Amino acid sequence: MNNGNSPAAPETTADTIQCPACRGEIRSSVKRCPHCGRPMAGSHSFFYYAFWVALSLVVAALMACIFYVGFLLLNRML
Ligand SMILES: [Zn+2]
Repeated sequence: MNNGNSPAAPETTADTIQCPACRGEIRSSVKRCPHCGRPMAGSHSFFYYAFWVALSLVVAALMACIFYVGFLLLNRML
């Protein structure tokens, strides 16, 4: 993602981002804001997102199974 023509402000380099919590300027490479200590969301690895995607898929499958079993039981009772 370093194509060299990013429309960044002259005073803000591409390596500097703004903390969403305290509006302080921090380097995008840091995992935690040095001003307020807030963890940066963009610093997680691919496996972090893969883990949450897998977890949400498992939860969705479990909920589908629960609804399906509940639907079957409801049909049997009626
Ligand atoms: Zn901060």
